[in-house]
Amino acid sequence: MAGHPFSYYPPGLYYAMTDLARKYDISVKEVETVLIRHALTREFGFKCDHKEEKVRTNKQKKKTYCVWCWRRLEVLREPRTQRIVNDFKFIPGDYKTLKTFMEPAEGLSENEGRETMK
Ligand SMILES: [Zn+2]
Repeated sequence: MAGHPFSYYPPGLYYAMTDLARKYDISVKEVETVLIRHALTREFGFKCDHKEEKVRTNKQKKKTYCVWCWRRLEVLREPRTQRIVNDFKFIPGDYKTLKTFMEPAEGLSENEGRETMK
């Protein structure tokens, strides 16, 4: 993060996000992204299908995520190319969204996570 953090957030909000970042061992930027994505999803109908062409894997960290919404993904099956006679067929991968700190309970989507936090 460039510059002094308080040039972006009031201290109360920044400390609250720092606490979450420490608790869940993620960056303040990721805390911010999860909160924004959650609010957009829940309140304004934001939706991302994490399309195959938007999925990237950081080779060093071996972390897979959607570049469109930064949702972390678990790779259930790698995408691959299958050779069929003189042609190639692309077989998309299979991914599962990883839970965020807004989804504390099992079996809840990001949409439903807040219910359990009341
Ligand atoms: Zn996405």
